[in-house]
Amino acid sequence: MSPGGNVYQDVLESRTAFSDYDIVSTETEVRNSSFRKSTAVGGGKPGMASNSAVHELLECPVCLNIMYRPIHQCPNGHTICLNCKTKVHNCCPICRQELGNIRCVALEKVAELLELPCQYQFLGCQDIFPYHSRLRHEQNCRFRPYNCPYAGAECSVMGNIRSLVIHLKDVHNVDMHDGCTFNHRYVKSNPREVENATWMLTVFNCFGHQFCLHFEAFNIGMSPVYMAFLRFMGDDHEAKKFSYSLEVCGNGRKLTWQGVPRSIRDSHKTVRDSLDGLVIQRKLALFFSGDGQELKLKIAGRIWKEQL
Ligand SMILES: [Zn+2]
Ligand SMILES: [Zn+2]
Ligand SMILES: [Zn+2]
Ligand SMILES: [Zn+2]
Repeated sequence: MSPGGNVYQDVLESRTAFSDYDIVSTETEVRNSSFRKSTAVGGGKPGMASNSAVHELLECPVCLNIMYRPIHQCPNGHTICLNCKTKVHNCCPICRQELGNIRCVALEKVAELLELPCQYQFLGCQDIFPYHSRLRHEQNCRFRPYNCPYAGAECSVMGNIRSLVIHLKDVHNVDMHDGCTFNHRYVKSNPREVENATWMLTVFNCFGHQFCLHFEAFNIGMSPVYMAFLRFMGDDHEAKKFSYSLEVCGNGRKLTWQGVPRSIRDSHKTVRDSLDGLVIQRKLALFFSGDGQELKLKIAGRIWKEQL
């Protein structure tokens, strides 16, 4: 499918206190173009432990992460982590000597006595861990960066929520809307062409948080479906404090979904594959659309906070 070959229209009618208005986005498209890979946003230097001399000794000179066993060294004593040893083809990045298979057991033993701050200290984690339990913590640290929630683009950017919101606006040109109710229209002139299509992401700002509205087309077995769902920009325990509803109506019919937004810790594909959202069979979607030729789905949504 060639980019630009399909024309999508994505109309959002945001309800504001002042007036009703329509925003027509001309840039909506099925995204099969790939976005430039880039590095983490949010500042800081991953893997930087502290200023102490011993901590610095444990920093791999290539990847700058804290080294774990086995730590290797060249004949001149320059240390390197196992991952990077393979990457540099056994050639010491500092003195160019062949690395061979020399372990730096002394440093490994000193390391075991250390307590280290979490690698996400620069994102706000204040915890300190014994050398060996640090890795386990980091896999679940609540400050660990989130992946960019923009689906389909294979974007590798990571960061905290605030930096990702800026990234979504600046890099993906995502529409941001204030408010907890919305009306969204998804239009496609030739819906039968659509296989694995992803529409432009819309982000809603409410209750001091951001929610991503996804809409896509794919097949379940042989049957083509459309699916709309909401993801929460934050951790799972926060996501569970909210509920949302999506309602599609047209032609005198109405279909309603009520659910809990999923954290963006769950990948967009995970949520999609679990069918945790409003799923509409294509035949039914065309029925809602009216004449049966063009997809014109009007989806009304609401997000609210559960009383806990
Ligand atoms: Zn390394
Ligand atoms: Zn060396
Ligand atoms: Zn942490
Ligand atoms: Zn991105």
